[in-house]
Amino acid sequence: MGDVIQPPAPTRIPVFADGRDTGDRFPVRRVYCVGRNFADHAREMGASAPTDPSRRGQPTLFLKPADAIVNGGDVHYPPGTSDLHHEVELVVALGEDAPPEPLSAEAAARLVFGYALGLDLTRRDLQAAAKAKGLPWDTGKSFDEAAPVGPLVHATRAGPLAGRRLSLDVNGTTRQQGSLDDMIWSVTDILQSLSTLYALRAGDLVFMGTPAGVGPLQSGDHYEARLDGLPPLKGRILPPR
Ligand code: MN
Repeated sequence: MGDVIQPPAPTRIPVFADGRDTGDRFPVRRVYCVGRNFADHAREMGASAPTDPSRRGQPTLFLKPADAIVNGGDVHYPPGTSDLHHEVELVVALGEDAPPEPLSAEAAARLVFGYALGLDLTRRDLQAAAKAKGLPWDTGKSFDEAAPVGPLVHATRAGPLAGRRLSLDVNGTTRQQGSLDDMIWSVTDILQSLSTLYALRAGDLVFMGTPAGVGPLQSGDHYEARLDGLPPLKGRILPPR
């Protein structure tokens, strides 16, 4: 009697303080993502994104499998695509389970363990084909090594997110940049919205959406993602496995 296979170990994200590895690790349980959270990116994807809070409706939410998370930046070019895209994003890590009652903004903020940088890698050709047919996005967003993540920094050390700049350079050229102030839905907005649909738990990650400038990555490219006050996420696109 016992497990008939070896249970898979969760991906563990290192926790940094003052630019150094503390030795602490954050095991990943579940990965939520927000689409169209920056109006300039929504427009470049051919969608509208009202910024008036009374007209913005519900956020676009999707998930990636937890084992799509890569600890650090290097990933292999994935199969099944000729249009792999980068989306640089703020990643929020939850350190507590949500309470059973409806989540207030204050309670939502208390769930946050810390922040990291991540890439929401996208097989854009597969996503576009699915969207054109009104079919699910899963093959475009959910695949092996689809979500490299940098070191986590505790929220109290990182400080308030207001005014922080998010950017991505590929081969030394800036491709994406934006301000977290331009997010249509804030971190607490998204946690409140997610909590009406899912039981949020310690170990969950939330990718908060990307600013304009998404574009293709090729095997051999190197990239550097930055967010003020966090360790950068640097990596390479390795040849296909
Ligand atoms: Mn995204």
